[in-house]
Amino acid sequence: RKDIGRITCGSTALDELIGGGIETQSITEVFGEFGSGKSQISHELAVTVQLPEEKGGLEAECVFIDTENTFRPERIEQIAGGFELDNEEVLQKIHIARAFNSSHQILMADKINELIQSGTNIKLVIVDSLTAHFRAEYVGRETLATRQQKLNQHLHTLQNIANTYNVAVFVTNQVQARPDAFFGSPTKAVGGHVLGHAATYRIWLKKGLAGKRIARLVDSPHLPEGESVFKIVTEGIVD
Ligand code: ADP
Repeated sequence: RKDIGRITCGSTALDELIGGGIETQSITEVFGEFGSGKSQISHELAVTVQLPEEKGGLEAECVFIDTENTFRPERIEQIAGGFELDNEEVLQKIHIARAFNSSHQILMADKINELIQSGTNIKLVIVDSLTAHFRAEYVGRETLATRQQKLNQHLHTLQNIANTYNVAVFVTNQVQARPDAFFGSPTKAVGGHVLGHAATYRIWLKKGLAGKRIARLVDSPHLPEGESVFKIVTEGIVD
């Protein structure tokens, strides 16, 4: 795999946990309970991908597939301010796609090819949340196989974009706070095996004391399991 690019998460500790920031040509999944910081990291990356390489970015634009209306332009403004970037310019480089249901979400991912082929310098695709629509629409045991098949198809599209255009893919996945149930075996509690196989990097987010967050790298084929601590502040994600 040549020319892999990296995008900083804002926190050096978090970057180091995953080998120096999220990678192009890979899917990175963050999972954790509500409020654990999944959307906050998504917003951070939407800004940091725009930074020059020496500051941890790829000087590029991103697609933000927003499935639960959690994208907040005013949050981007705060994060952009922390990097002394112009807010209007930063927002123009975030291509927001609101997905109303899972079919729509799949369609939006399919359309990213066109955007890139038209000359837009996309180096990051964020899907926040990857799983919410699928979970809401496919309920009950008898629908599980279909749900997994659809999710697989969607992830396959995203992985193709990552490989073809040297793009980083970052997806979020909400899970319930039952650490005892998925500690050591998170894939089981994260909607079956689908994500466990498709995501190259899986980061489990937990709330810590005094507003801190704990990120744990799990199931990584290349890197050792480990934990790092970061904070969410007005300017975004920091050590
Ligand atoms: P989720 O994992 O559900 O996507 P979020 O990423 O939305 O969770 O995280 C929400 C949390 O982020 C809030 O509970 C708060 O602790 C923190 N947060 C959000 N905005 C700010 C801010 N401007 N300053 C400091 N902390 C913030």
